[in-house]
Amino acid sequence: MGSIRDSVDSIIGEVTEIRRDIHRHPEIGRKEVRTAGIIRDKLKEYGVDEILTPMPTGTVAIIKGAKGPGKCVALRTDIDALPLQEDTDLPFASEVPNMMHACGHDIHASMMLGVAKVLCDSRDRFAGTVKLIFQPSEDTLPGGAKEMVECGVMENPKVDAIFAMHVMPDPDIVGKIAIKAGPMTTSVDLYDVTITGNGGHGSEPHTTQDPILAAAQMILDMQQIVARKIDPLDTGIVSLGSIHSGDAPNVIPAQCKFGGVSRAYSESARKKICEQMYKIAEGIKHISDCDVDIYHYEGYPSVLNDAKMVKCVEDAVSEELGPDAIVELEKPFSFSEDFSYFGNMTGVPSALFMVYAGQGTEEAYPLHSPKIIFKEEAMPYGIRAMAATALNFLNGDY
Ligand SMILES: [Zn+2]
Ligand SMILES: [Zn+2]
Repeated sequence: MGSIRDSVDSIIGEVTEIRRDIHRHPEIGRKEVRTAGIIRDKLKEYGVDEILTPMPTGTVAIIKGAKGPGKCVALRTDIDALPLQEDTDLPFASEVPNMMHACGHDIHASMMLGVAKVLCDSRDRFAGTVKLIFQPSEDTLPGGAKEMVECGVMENPKVDAIFAMHVMPDPDIVGKIAIKAGPMTTSVDLYDVTITGNGGHGSEPHTTQDPILAAAQMILDMQQIVARKIDPLDTGIVSLGSIHSGDAPNVIPAQCKFGGVSRAYSESARKKICEQMYKIAEGIKHISDCDVDIYHYEGYPSVLNDAKMVKCVEDAVSEELGPDAIVELEKPFSFSEDFSYFGNMTGVPSALFMVYAGQGTEEAYPLHSPKIIFKEEAMPYGIRAMAATALNFLNGDY
């Protein structure tokens, strides 16, 4: 039985090839048929104890420790790509028009296969069970996480803790692990508002119900939610990204539509924003005589890292990669991740950590950019961090 590092060294060549293959053939959420096929074949080859397929492209692998029964730890990865035309000169760039792994989920899935191999090789090092969750559709709503939980992936055996990792571009840093306790990403909710009046001639406003004026008032009121209804020490974001109405300057139109997103770290702030939106709509309806219809699409909750699980990751990473490998994050990220459902829906403690993956270009590009290139040199660090975290949780007292 060698070290985690030896085991990773022996598999990293193959895992890198798998990553390039998946990158070349990206698939959109819930249609990851080829990707799921590769994952299932490799899991079988690496000798996991059981492979379950709770969703057509969702896979769960079970690895049992040789030291007998114990806790159950789940490790989650996403596997889907984005509808985006890749604009890199990578030799293994996407061969599918308007489809690209621009969020690194190809790297996540491949690293998790590496973790599977390492843990299969390390069975005599742990008691209990490891559950590897390969979840479809993180980047396309509705995300696959909620459905995977509804399919029962957190039961039988019941999961005691769940961890996930996400690659992060950076101008310099490669292979370090970033984490913090508490909020890690925001929640997201989408709103589409339709205000309907009867329209009419601009010279006779008193005979109309003006949807543009109503929309203007409603938008200003919405911008006061964060200022006056959210604790100043909490965070709320209300941003409108579209507004459409009217065609002629002398006609009061019959309809105005606008839409936007809200984000928050706490569930209380998230709920407050939503409640206020409906209250404001009621008020506007009353004073404008227009109909105000809100279509609220509930997106992902925020990822809240459990302090004990963060400690578990930090202890494992310090031992496996050295204490310098940890970057303590000062603030959370303002994007969303559906990993939150695994903890949010079940109460199981969870932690998401970032793996810094440098920048493969002169210029720095963010996640979801068609030009983004991650450095594959980060992959062995991600695999080692995740495998060590799993062993640390199962063997330790967290
Ligand atoms: Zn993404
Ligand atoms: Zn992502």
